[in-house]
Amino acid sequence: MDFETWWLIFVPVLFALGWIASRVDIRQMLSETRSLPNSYFKGLNFLLNEEPDRAIDAFVEVAKLDPETTELHFALGSLFRRRGEMERAIRVHQSLLSRADLPQADRESAQHELAQDFLKAGMLDRAEQAFEQVLDTRFAVPAVRALIRIYESEHDWPRAIEAVKRLRALVDEPVPQLVHYQCERAVAAMAGKNPDFKAASEALDAADHAAAALRGDAGSQASEARIAMLRAQLARLSGKPEEERAYLASVLDTAPEYASLIAGELIESYRQVGQQEEGLAVLQNHYMRHPSLDTFNVVFRELRSQHGHKPAWAFAREALRAHPSLLGLDRMLEAELVLNEDPAGVRLAASEGSSAAADIVAGADLSLLRTLIHKHTQRLDRYACRVCGFEARHFYWQCPGCNSWETYQPRRLEEMK
Ligand SMILES: [Zn+2]
Repeated sequence: MDFETWWLIFVPVLFALGWIASRVDIRQMLSETRSLPNSYFKGLNFLLNEEPDRAIDAFVEVAKLDPETTELHFALGSLFRRRGEMERAIRVHQSLLSRADLPQADRESAQHELAQDFLKAGMLDRAEQAFEQVLDTRFAVPAVRALIRIYESEHDWPRAIEAVKRLRALVDEPVPQLVHYQCERAVAAMAGKNPDFKAASEALDAADHAAAALRGDAGSQASEARIAMLRAQLARLSGKPEEERAYLASVLDTAPEYASLIAGELIESYRQVGQQEEGLAVLQNHYMRHPSLDTFNVVFRELRSQHGHKPAWAFAREALRAHPSLLGLDRMLEAELVLNEDPAGVRLAASEGSSAAADIVAGADLSLLRTLIHKHTQRLDRYACRVCGFEARHFYWQCPGCNSWETYQPRRLEEMK
């Protein structure tokens, strides 16, 4: 192909086209820059200088001047929520939702953000409604998780269980607290003047089922122990003492650490069927393998009332030597003092021809000794949450401080050293 001179005419034309294109670009950029209000840069400046309050004021100004800026609204909303300014966060997200032209994806985001605002503000009813509205969107999983938390805090166990089922349909992950939701249902069914035994039994079957599903990975002694304890309670309420005793005794095998929670009831259930001696032997045997304060306490009292103070104190000496415990000593003295005042105890002591106090040290003042020790044991006589450290005199399956499940060990502070 030969070069033809007239082709040269294209060179200036191409130059001209390039020049026009670049002009257009720059003009557009300039017009965009001009349309960004000054407040925006002011806000950025404050943010860079770590003055968040003034930055927020500047950004609010931008948002007012240009209500189309959805990203800025979202950023402001979540900033307000993080800072605990719930009213402002709610207002920002509500104003976004009130826009007719808001794209569907942004509408769903705003709805989800608003739900989180309500939750953080403690407005559970409104949070519940708001989360329900995003259940069929891409926020389904976080929304169901939040709903589970809400139902749990409202103690609405049936709905919490429904929500867990819904979560399971979305993601395959274990939900360990499901066992406790079913247990709580059983507790509710057994409470009150007209307990519903059938409903309680069904809830406990469901709890068993949920625990069995966990057994592979995160199955816990705590759930096993709780189910057995509730089954024992159900048996007692239904007037089946043999069954009650069997369930309580099963805790010793399936969840030996939790024996401390049932030791007292177990010995009572043996007494119900006239086998307290056998019960004492079972507990004493368990104590040798899994020593704990409450089991010690029950064994000591039982030895004291069945066989008198000598074997009881011999057991206590042995036990306290192996596991020195101020609380143990405190409980022992308490039991001794109570039994000394108890007519039956006095009779027993009289028939033995001596008292415990006289036996240990002549003239020992057990009452004074106990007062001294008791002062120091108060602080140690507590259960503590291993997540938040919340201390409590009673044992809880769910921490009242941080609402975590199974974070209390069945041991007092003194025993956890
Ligand atoms: Zn806690």
